[in-house]
Amino acid sequence: MKHVTSITDLKALVVDAKNKGLKVALVPTMGNLHEGHLSLVRKAKQESDLVVVSIFVNPTQFGPKEDYNNYPRTLKEDIDLLYNYADIIFSPAVKEIYPDQNSRVFVYETKKSKILCGKFRPGHFEGVLSIVAKLFNICMPDTAYFGLKDYQQFILIRDMVRELNFNIKVVPCSIVREKEGLAMSSRNSYMSEEQKLSSLTIIKTLNTVKEKFLQGETNVFSLKAKALAVLFPQIEVQYLELVHPDTLESLSTAQKGAVLMFAGYCGKVRLIDNIIL
Ligand code: AMP
Repeated sequence: MKHVTSITDLKALVVDAKNKGLKVALVPTMGNLHEGHLSLVRKAKQESDLVVVSIFVNPTQFGPKEDYNNYPRTLKEDIDLLYNYADIIFSPAVKEIYPDQNSRVFVYETKKSKILCGKFRPGHFEGVLSIVAKLFNICMPDTAYFGLKDYQQFILIRDMVRELNFNIKVVPCSIVREKEGLAMSSRNSYMSEEQKLSSLTIIKTLNTVKEKFLQGETNVFSLKAKALAVLFPQIEVQYLELVHPDTLESLSTAQKGAVLMFAGYCGKVRLIDNIIL
């Protein structure tokens, strides 16, 4: 396994691999790795020859009041975890990625990035799409792996690849959860044990909605009202929306394949989760 921090070094390694006919996969992360991230890396390893894992806490996707400065940075532990799976770890400094403090060119999506999380985190998806586009150009992978925990992010990246003609296959990966059901996230470490217990209400509620749908209830207003009543007051809900899996538009009648999307706070910790009906 190689660890590189410069764009030039990474490009040289990837070009060399490509010249040998190897299939290159990229797994972009912000580090503080857990089983969720590792599931992406393992899948990438199974399906390709050279796996690049990027570790970069991207400043442009954090709002001014968000946790950029406090985001857990555990590079040494991450490198140890990746030892058996990744071929290259790319952990550039902020200056390497944004040499010009005043970046002016961003990838901007006009519709699906403005709803759900986009409504509560203005500029977030612009930052995400821009860094992913930069990583795609830096790493030139054949495939890139993303978790469905960040469902809206996955759809936006998939759309960007289609619309901007990146020659990259974007691979969705299932959500990995703790034994009790909480979706794994680097931000879970911000929660106390008590908050972690409260947060289990989220997945229980999503599962209950799915069960009711499978039993025949399709009225989204009624499904949501009951779910919100269960979440209150332990969880401060930002949104709970049943959306079309592709357009992300809210549905009033539940249908198979629709995605129930949640975002909210457990204490001061913002959590997201979703379940596919
Ligand atoms: P992050 O480091 O949070 O930016 O996540 C990097 C990648 O890992 C993204 O594609 C996430 O969707 C994915 N990911 C994070 N947590 C999970 C999880 N619990 N299950 C599956 N994928 C995840």
